[in-house]
Amino acid sequence: MIVHKDAEDFNELDRKIEEEARKRTDSVLVCPQCNSTNVTYYMGLKTGVQYQCKECGYVGAFIIERDKE
Ligand SMILES: [Zn+2]
Repeated sequence: MIVHKDAEDFNELDRKIEEEARKRTDSVLVCPQCNSTNVTYYMGLKTGVQYQCKECGYVGAFIIERDKE
């Protein structure tokens, strides 16, 4: 019974990972300053991963994630 329960937990975990991966591909990054979706990843050596808006030049760690329509 214990083995069976563990197997269920793994299935649940798999499902959640899959769900999360799907959510990420279905979402689009939106600039918090100008609402543009023309946003790319911006790698800073000391600051880590940030985002850069090509429309207004915004660079920061904060970004809006919106579902694709
Ligand atoms: Zn912007």
